[in-house]
Amino acid sequence: MKFADLHLHTQFSDGTFTPEELVLRAQNVGLACIALTDHDTVEGCARAAAACANVKMEFISGAELTAEHEDTEVHILGYFLDPQNRVLLNRIAKFQADRQNRINEMCAALNKLGIPLKAEAVFALANCKSPGRPHVARALVKEKLIDNLDDAFEKYLKKGRSAWVPKTKMSALEGVELIHQAGGLAVMAHPGLNRTDDIIPDLVDAGLDGIECFHTKHSTVMAERYLEIAEKYNLLVTGGSDCHGFSKKAPLIGTMKLPYEHVERLYAAKKAADAKRQAVAAK
Ligand code: AMP
Ligand code: ZN
Ligand code: FE
Ligand code: FE
Repeated sequence: MKFADLHLHTQFSDGTFTPEELVLRAQNVGLACIALTDHDTVEGCARAAAACANVKMEFISGAELTAEHEDTEVHILGYFLDPQNRVLLNRIAKFQADRQNRINEMCAALNKLGIPLKAEAVFALANCKSPGRPHVARALVKEKLIDNLDDAFEKYLKKGRSAWVPKTKMSALEGVELIHQAGGLAVMAHPGLNRTDDIIPDLVDAGLDGIECFHTKHSTVMAERYLEIAEKYNLLVTGGSDCHGFSKKAPLIGTMKLPYEHVERLYAAKKAADAKRQAVAAK
């Protein structure tokens, strides 16, 4: 049996592995195919693709876009994205800039509380265009301003806590469109985590291609529920570990292995979408 992990993060967002380390780990746990889905960036895709090619592992370039629909946060996974797509790169550059501003704002809020964390320390640690709260948490631990990552979230960074700053999000409908115009397939990430079931029909109307039924934080009951929803709306089924390396305790890669038949359906859908686009362009 062949398996895949279609939800992985690297140092290009808030994971701790380099693309090369991630691929080595994927190889060690016996995966045949991986997709890189860093938050709001495709920066790591070229290196991950090269590392996969070296070990003859299949690679799907992707990203996890932060979006919202009717005040509900929803993460949209894009698969088979062209990492050079100009429209995509221009659009996500704005969200990356907002993420960087947000680090300044979170540090200012911490400073007000008497915690002397400098934004520069967070940027130095993050060293990427898409910094987020896990980088602030790690910087707090590194600077010995807090004991551990959980405490950082519990005390300061969780939604509603004193140094929490909301993130700018694109609309989910725009996210789906942005992914499609970059040659990708749009998949709703971990629906069980955000309690986003109500918005599924709207996203389907907008052209959603798939739903992430299998995720390390989905119970078996949840996975079954989303498999039923996938069937009802004729959506592709995906799954992944959402591994962030050591950002959250032990690395999750290898703990969620997606049967390869789902990847085959993804490839078929990508082929069909490309053919449809070509037919439209030829008209
Ligand atoms: P951001 O994109 O900056 O809002 O950060 C989101 C990241 O923080 C995701 O990878 C989450 O899994 C992680 N995160 C959110 N809440 C917590 C928490 N309570 N403890 C640890 N990590 C968290
Ligand atoms: Zn993350
Ligand atoms: Fe997510
Ligand atoms: Fe993720």
